[in-house]
Amino acid sequence: MQSPRTLERVLLVAGTALTLGTSACISVPSTGKLAATSSAISETDLRARLALFAADSMDGRSAGTSGHKRAVRYLVSEVTRLGLSPAGDDGTFLQTFFMRRRQLDPASAIAVNGRILRPTVDFRAISTGRGPIRPVDGAEVIFGGIVGEPSTQISPGQAAGRVVVLGVPLNMNSARAFANVLYGPTSRFADALAVAIASLDYVPVAQRGINASIGLADSTETLANQQPTTLLVSTDAAVALMGMPLRSATAGAKGRTITGRLAVIEEDRPTQNVVALIRGADPELRGQYVVLGAHSDHLPIASRIVDHDSTRAVSIERNRSRLPVAQRTVHHASASGDTERHTPVRLDSIFNGADDDGSGSVALLEIAELMAASHNHQGRSVLFVWHSAEEDIYMGSRWLVAHPPVPTDSMITMVNLDMVGRGGVDDIASGGPRYVEVIGADRRSPALLTLIADVNRRSNVPATLVTSDPGGGFCRSDQWNYARQGIPVAFFTTGSHADYHSVTDEDRYIDYPKLALVTKLVAALTAELASTREQLEPHGKRVVLADFCSG
Ligand SMILES: [Zn+2]
Repeated sequence: MQSPRTLERVLLVAGTALTLGTSACISVPSTGKLAATSSAISETDLRARLALFAADSMDGRSAGTSGHKRAVRYLVSEVTRLGLSPAGDDGTFLQTFFMRRRQLDPASAIAVNGRILRPTVDFRAISTGRGPIRPVDGAEVIFGGIVGEPSTQISPGQAAGRVVVLGVPLNMNSARAFANVLYGPTSRFADALAVAIASLDYVPVAQRGINASIGLADSTETLANQQPTTLLVSTDAAVALMGMPLRSATAGAKGRTITGRLAVIEEDRPTQNVVALIRGADPELRGQYVVLGAHSDHLPIASRIVDHDSTRAVSIERNRSRLPVAQRTVHHASASGDTERHTPVRLDSIFNGADDDGSGSVALLEIAELMAASHNHQGRSVLFVWHSAEEDIYMGSRWLVAHPPVPTDSMITMVNLDMVGRGGVDDIASGGPRYVEVIGADRRSPALLTLIADVNRRSNVPATLVTSDPGGGFCRSDQWNYARQGIPVAFFTTGSHADYHSVTDEDRYIDYPKLALVTKLVAALTAELASTREQLEPHGKRVVLADFCSG
């Protein structure tokens, strides 16, 4: 039977598609009434846009899915309606790239001494590298020592061309089960066919499934199999591979010969960034760009259907326990103290992503509408980017800075909005009606942060700006890929909350006055950035940051 929620979803899908194709207004699924937007930034428009963008009918907008395609279609129909210029591929608003989903083929199986070892039961593939997987048929097994203890391990020469079994230290636990993989065998066993770490027994059963890695499908990439497959195997399977109890195996001890195959399934899925432009009026400055960013994607449909309200009650309690005691507002159980449930169970499996990042996506639309309507375009041009695949480690922004629609050197600043509709007293430490985090704006030079503070001070409803990056957000959204290019960035967010990455992140829990406050602040900042003569970064060549999250 379809869950009532699913039925409702099917109905909504029909409604939305119809509206998007034809009209110049936006349809509000829950009310079904059409609503025209005004050019001013308003809570009403933000609410109406978000009701649509974060509706169940978008299925969570996971990159590469039909739900995300519907979200992209809505964005394109809006920027077209508002009269922005296309800045994507071939004169369109779309910048298409491919995500490569790669996973171990469930039909993979290896055998030793007539015993068949299977995925998820006897082993789990952690990393299958890139390109074709190294064949293990006919390979000899060798005991490589203890994971994480190089002094006990064999030499790279001994490992080359073999399947290496690694034992685990006595104080092994589930937390370390994956850690060892990251810091374990890489270099020393680079020429092994596969590395099998005997730590699967420490992994909770629910996490032994086949997982997929998602990466950018980059046709220019050399596909030679660059590294061994890394497996977590059960102790039982490790004993079968070695043909002896592990405690009596010493480094270099020869095990059995493997037959069978490990294979991978790869699927390339297209997805799109939406890129639109408002060209500046000043011939001198219009070749410089202020980039405004948000991400249009979120998460796939949950594999487990849950009860919405109970899920939320639990996460609210968990989140409350993280708030300073003095800040915790008292939630009164019903006057009678009766904890009986009076509302019907609401089944839920959709990660609506209303705050993450529906809020940023609709804020950008409102700013675009305001700027497009006010015909006195400022000096510089403004590039609006709705990135896809942010939830897949910022793939859309990685693609964009590698295939920039305008030279990255001409991007004077990138302002990113991710989760800008919450930050209330029940959400985050020091949260409140004006709480807004601005992250990274002083990294390149203090000038950008100073300008933001000025613009905020001049606002009718100034925000309480928090610049200390309490949540470590600098490299947790798309601005990171721009910062790596040395572009000054400012990341606006209202921080985490109980509904973060939960099916309960719905438009009904958004703080619309707050969302309007942030949207107006960023609109004023954008107008300032587009016309300022201020030097926002130190002279000289931009420094491209090498590795993740440094700098
Ligand atoms: Zn996000």
